Amino acid sequence: MKSTKDIELFLFDLDGTINMGDTPLEGAIDTLNRLTAHGKKVCFVTNNSSKSKYDYHKKIRNLGYDAKIEQIITSGMATAQFLSRHRPYKSIYVLGTDELKREMSDYGIEIKDENQDADVVVLGFDTSLTYDKLFHACILLEKGKDYIATHPDFVCPSEYGNMPDTGAIMALIEKTNGRTPSVVIGKPNAPMADFVFDHCHIEPEKVAMVGDRLYTDILFGINNKMTSILVLTGETTVEMVHKSHIKPDIVLDSVNDIEV
Ligand SMILES: [Mg+2]
Repeated sequence: MKSTKDIELFLFDLDGTINMGDTPLEGAIDTLNRLTAHGKKVCFVTNNSSKSKYDYHKKIRNLGYDAKIEQIITSGMATAQFLSRHRPYKSIYVLGTDELKREMSDYGIEIKDENQDADVVVLGFDTSLTYDKLFHACILLEKGKDYIATHPDFVCPSEYGNMPDTGAIMALIEKTNGRTPSVVIGKPNAPMADFVFDHCHIEPEKVAMVGDRLYTDILFGINNKMTSILVLTGETTVEMVHKSHIKPDIVLDSVNDIEV
């Protein structure tokens, strides 16, 4: 089993790892403070592109951890940086929330509306989705415009049940016109990892990804040369680990068992 002693940066997923909704998991905030006290860096990495880093900053502070804005990483931020680096001077149509659009605007990206042509369609977790928005995205994609998604998750868990997430909207678009994104940014994919290493000025060998979902959090660690730590406080059970081809480096009952 790999050790966490040499890890300098711990990346944490949120729901199922640190909190459930608005409630921190038992001991999780103390663990974050313990890691920080031992000189470890801590960041929070979420695929949820419906909210901004400011929303998450507030949320984590409300959970009881004194986070700084630099400690928050969202797939929306990584998507905005990817577009500014790899699709410069392109106009963007965002099938996403105002928060995601603001993330793009922060990078000086030109955003078009439902009545305008655009070079690239960006699909996020659009909790403000309307038929008009969806139809406009499909019109652009049918014209052959570039297509990028913020993350691949099919569902976002909520206290009321699973919410259709970006992957589900992606499937709807594929049924409509056969188009799939040329790039999907978020966990477990490399563009998100590149953003993290850049943002935190660190090499993957010194980073651990801690999360409760095998196909996003753990695969993110494995695919991008980080140490992967599965916690059993969320959606994954020991039986699921045994059955899966995705094998975490370390399996812990909760974040409280992380050794430093
Ligand atoms: Mg989770």
